[in-house]
Amino acid sequence: MSMDMKYFEEMEAKIPHGKVRTRFAPSPTGYMHVGNLRTALYTWLIARANNGTFILRIEDTDQGRYVDGAVDVIYRTMAQCGLTHDEGPDVGGPVAPYIQSERRDTYGKYARLLVEKGGAYYCFCEKTESEEDSGDFNRAADPCRDLSAEEVQEKLSAGMPYVIRQKIPTEGTTTFHDAIFGDITVENSTLDDQVLLKRDGLPTYNFANVIDDHLMGITHVVRGSEYLSSAPKYNLLYESFGWEVPTYVHCSPVMRDSQNKMSKRHGDPSYEDLIAQGYLTEAVLNYVALLGWSPKGEQAEQEIFSLDELVKAFDMTGISKSPAIFDRVKLDHFNAVYLRNLPADAFHKVAEPYIRQSVKGDFDTAAIAALLQARCERLTDIPEKVDFFDALPAYDVECFTNKKSKTNSEVSLAMLQAAVPALEALSDWTVDGIHDTLIDLAAKLEVKNATLMWPVRIAAAGKLVTPGGAVEICHILGKGETIRRLKAGMTMLGA
Ligand code: GLU
Repeated sequence: MSMDMKYFEEMEAKIPHGKVRTRFAPSPTGYMHVGNLRTALYTWLIARANNGTFILRIEDTDQGRYVDGAVDVIYRTMAQCGLTHDEGPDVGGPVAPYIQSERRDTYGKYARLLVEKGGAYYCFCEKTESEEDSGDFNRAADPCRDLSAEEVQEKLSAGMPYVIRQKIPTEGTTTFHDAIFGDITVENSTLDDQVLLKRDGLPTYNFANVIDDHLMGITHVVRGSEYLSSAPKYNLLYESFGWEVPTYVHCSPVMRDSQNKMSKRHGDPSYEDLIAQGYLTEAVLNYVALLGWSPKGEQAEQEIFSLDELVKAFDMTGISKSPAIFDRVKLDHFNAVYLRNLPADAFHKVAEPYIRQSVKGDFDTAAIAALLQARCERLTDIPEKVDFFDALPAYDVECFTNKKSKTNSEVSLAMLQAAVPALEALSDWTVDGIHDTLIDLAAKLEVKNATLMWPVRIAAAGKLVTPGGAVEICHILGKGETIRRLKAGMTMLGA
């Protein structure tokens, strides 16, 4: 069964060397969960911080999990987040193809090479329960492990279906190093002869990732810590092939609470869900970066990082071993800071579609946005906050009573009775014009500004809590509508 080594030599010759090369290797599940996004971000940051190359590889060997349009979700998310890849299915590269299902022949060839090298064997036994997870497979009892080359050839020639299994040493230990978790040693007797190549000729994830990481010249393998327990088996594969083991960077999970990982099944949000819930991409990325990584030195206390700042600050030794808990309140805080820090016109642009969900009338949305900018945590808060512009809500007359502003129904009525003619007389319907009119009126009436502003704002908005005060709201409503609403308030108050 001697093999033609030319193919392998050519594959080796294609492998780029000399630079940091990282890969994000999602399976197309149609859903980019927060943990995945964080892995993508850390992987991208390690490449960018080291002037390296960032590769996107699609791991679609588990055809049962295939979801239509799922690859688009990955492209879209990466592009929106600015996590641009240098090599990948859509942009190509020196070690294409970058989709595992298109690399099928390669895995078969390498699996057979591994058999030659003594690191794997053909197994003709009945299909095990799950080939992806051969945990129950009883290696000691597998008659195929020690078949002679002739016996194997005979069965192959007879067309018997087979899988290729990893031949794990029965004795000794395997030690691997992880950049976050340090050295980990396991007894080889605890490792199973996992399936590498399935009956359908497709590789398992456990085989494909090693072949691809090697052939793509990956220097740092960043992934979830759920793969830690498989790492010794990967090491043994690298050793059997005589390949250099990459740096492993296993990241602890993102949890929904102290007990449970975030999961789609439990309704935890994906990246796209978070955007639909009114979060800004930049805020999500910033928050996710700090879920399991902390800056050091002068930046140890810094919370707000742009992507460029993260590239400069990121150091994988700051990645934590402990699981991180996804905290909505914290994310809301980050989002509010990002919304507040946007230039006014940029905020208007992102806020406008939300304003328009409830404000259909001909109002100045830039002026409405200006009221909202410092007052919202999520964009989805907006429609409910500004719904009163289109239609005066039905409100309770009790709203006019406010201790701090020293108002009650009687006082409010008096204030509105004075405010209406003063505002009617105002020809310059600007924020300054309205402001000065009302301030002068309060002085003339010898009341606190709030005693006048409170009833004007309540009558204008019909709501206790509003973004912006009486002046801004009246300005946006326009003169005619303001007067109409103030008069309606007077009627409510018994005028
Ligand atoms: N396809 C694997 C996943 O989506 C990637 C694991 C890895 O990065 O090696 O979980």
